[in-house]
Amino acid sequence: MQPTLEQIQDFKGKYPKQLYLLFFTEMWERFTFYGNRALLILFMVNYLKFDDAKGNIIYGVYQSLIYAMPVLGGMMADKFLGQRKSILWGGILLALGSFVMAIPVKESFFIGMGIMIVGNGYFKPNISTIVGSLYKDGDGRRDAGFSFFYMGINIGATLGGVLCGWVGQTISWHLGFGLAGIFMIIGLITFSLKQNVLGPIGLPPSKEKLKAKSFAGISNEILIYLLSLSIIPLFILILNYYKIYSYIINPFGIAALIYVIYTASKLGKEVFLKLMVAMVLIVFSSLFWSFYEQGGGSLQLFADRNVNMNFFGTHLSSAAVNNSITPIFVVLLTPFFVWLWIWLSKKKKEPSSVIKFSLALMQLGLGFYVYVFGAAFAKNGIESLFIFSLGYFFMVTGELCLSPIGLSAITKLSPAKMVGMMMGMWFLASSYGQYLAGLIGSLMAIPTEAGTQLSASESLPVYTNIYGKIALVAALSGLLLLLLSPLLKKWMKGAK
Ligand code: GLN
Repeated sequence: MQPTLEQIQDFKGKYPKQLYLLFFTEMWERFTFYGNRALLILFMVNYLKFDDAKGNIIYGVYQSLIYAMPVLGGMMADKFLGQRKSILWGGILLALGSFVMAIPVKESFFIGMGIMIVGNGYFKPNISTIVGSLYKDGDGRRDAGFSFFYMGINIGATLGGVLCGWVGQTISWHLGFGLAGIFMIIGLITFSLKQNVLGPIGLPPSKEKLKAKSFAGISNEILIYLLSLSIIPLFILILNYYKIYSYIINPFGIAALIYVIYTASKLGKEVFLKLMVAMVLIVFSSLFWSFYEQGGGSLQLFADRNVNMNFFGTHLSSAAVNNSITPIFVVLLTPFFVWLWIWLSKKKKEPSSVIKFSLALMQLGLGFYVYVFGAAFAKNGIESLFIFSLGYFFMVTGELCLSPIGLSAITKLSPAKMVGMMMGMWFLASSYGQYLAGLIGSLMAIPTEAGTQLSASESLPVYTNIYGKIALVAALSGLLLLLLSPLLKKWMKGAK
């Protein structure tokens, strides 16, 4: 028998049991996504023979599109499909995209990426929306639930990155891409077999509307699937002509913003103000990601050039260290944060989402400051692995005060019929963050003269100069948010 919404939300203990299903489904999806991601830049440079700059830009555009598409995927779920059908459709496309990329011809690469962009748009925002629906308004266990869910994301990210990265780099690129897709199938099968435990959560808002045939005898549901396939060629085109991207993302972002403000303005003052708090959090998260995402760009090169990768006599690969360190920290630190939020909530002392965001930015600033501080102890321009990890440690404690908390806040602050769209806006902030991260990263391009690179002692100040500025801006924006918090708290009307 399917549970009712009340039965689901009245759960005893730390987590609702439905959360485990969402945890594992998202874990396998992130396995696919990060497994694939680990190979992209290496594949472009080594197999497709793109130069570094072209590879980096295409990577940035792809990542940005990946996080922009959830706006449409969230909207489609709110209006027509509901979250469950969206997750299944998105998952099918993610698996398909990986399998297409596994076809060993050059053309398959961009086609597969285009399919994955649409798939991620349908999958990513909607699974988080369902997590939020498991909780009643005001349930103090919500942030802890999102933190646990976030751990699933990062277990998948670690496993996918390591396994597909290794298979792709050592056995065959295409096998690596294909392997990523197989795990999505596991997630899809589990989700479709077990989805009944979700009771009424995530069903289409109107079954009749979905079944109705409004065009050429085709049901609206099939029409949505066909329409979403029809935009894949557009993404393939953008990836090929990546220089036009800024002309697309900016109008898209502005249009989405206007649409949210317009829709919110019709919903009464109280709802409007709550949504404006969500928008403030979204804007600050964009800044957070633009710094944090240096991890995929400038910090990778910094790790390669200015960090001693010697670990008790073994030389570690800078790519392996740099790509696994953050998800591993997330997995290790999450139990502490889950305990902390529940403990503070029981004592009625849990800080609001706005304060958590402010702390997140300050910790991110501290993380970048560690690299600047570490320069004082560098030997011939080389910082220790300990300092490198310590910087990431603070960035991850910051991430844990922002990323799962933001997902949770969006579900608290948005009215039910807009939550999918708002979740999409949350990911759109990541999309901008990715894009800005690339621009910031390019400020640290190490000049090469006549083919020779700068030495480590010459490149170190190039990085620490910008990392120092990032530290300052992050800390100041954290402070600004702290100052704004009393006002935003009023607008939240009791929501935390
Ligand atoms: N690392 C997290 C994930 O993959 C958050 C990504 C983001 O929002 N930028 O879900």
